[in-house]
Amino acid sequence: MDHDPLPGDHPETGHVSTGALPPDTDVQALVSAGYERYRHLGEGAVAGYIPALAAASPSAFGVCVAGVGGRLFSAGDADQEFAIESISKLFVFALVCHALGHDQARRKLGVNSTGLPFNSVMAIELNADRTMNPLVNAGAIATTSLVPGTTAEEKFESIVAAMSRFAGRRLVMDGGVYESEAATNDRNRGIAHLLDGYGRMYCDPDLATDVYTRQCSVRVSARDLAVMGATLANGGVNPVTGEQAIETSYCKRVLAVLATAGLYEQSGEWLYDVGLPGKSGVAGGIVTVSPGKGGLGTFSPPLDAAGNSVRGQHITRYLSEALGLNLFASAPFA
Ligand code: GLU
Repeated sequence: MDHDPLPGDHPETGHVSTGALPPDTDVQALVSAGYERYRHLGEGAVAGYIPALAAASPSAFGVCVAGVGGRLFSAGDADQEFAIESISKLFVFALVCHALGHDQARRKLGVNSTGLPFNSVMAIELNADRTMNPLVNAGAIATTSLVPGTTAEEKFESIVAAMSRFAGRRLVMDGGVYESEAATNDRNRGIAHLLDGYGRMYCDPDLATDVYTRQCSVRVSARDLAVMGATLANGGVNPVTGEQAIETSYCKRVLAVLATAGLYEQSGEWLYDVGLPGKSGVAGGIVTVSPGKGGLGTFSPPLDAAGNSVRGQHITRYLSEALGLNLFASAPFA
């Protein structure tokens, strides 16, 4: 279906529907309460398929909420850095929306959930368009192949610069994680070549996989994720630095894709429980966005079977409820 431009594509003429976070003291108290509530939870297992990630401490746990006014509220290991992994996919999609326009990005990548695991080859074979969305590996590597730049260095610099604008500080890659992933990512290289055969890879497939592996190895903290999420919650303007990281009209597109596919095959359950767009990564991070209110960043390495942080899911669900963030909640008209 082709789409004609609507008023909401132009921020100055579109109306938005959002509210505000509770008072600062309440937010900090609830963030601390949520941290205490889940810090001793023992479920889940640290990711084992990337050697460098297998060494992560299962007890590490951090949470941060960033309001669109620029206030930060945190508890636990909120400044501990870890590899961004799959969470990078959403920021690279944002960059590609910026480079191509959101309609071209949709045409080249797709924006539907696969219903299958994040690294599924079946999903490529079963879907006529081959890539289903920018958040599972096939679509994500295709997205990376569309990033501006010719060499791996140029493309990676475009990505780091874009993600750094969201975080409000210069982010750097973890060389150890990159080498560990690069030595074990035959499956991702296979996916890239398969897509290339179907004409859905937009640069050399090995180059795209290499840049993708680098982007996954960029280090962030829960605090960074909260600020990055708050930027998407704030019409694309970083609430701490005031810098525009993504055009306002693209935020809602990126968040829509997160809502359908951000937690892999458990995205439906996540939306049912949390009611907010979010994106998880295999090193234990989750970023969640409450449009118009703020961003949540969590970090805890033990994962469930789908690859989503267990403590991260629990505390985000708790905070969504306690802070009144669920996008689908309403009160009867009085
Ligand atoms: N670099 C990881 C991979 O492609 C990311 C997966 C994830 O974070 O879920 O296998």
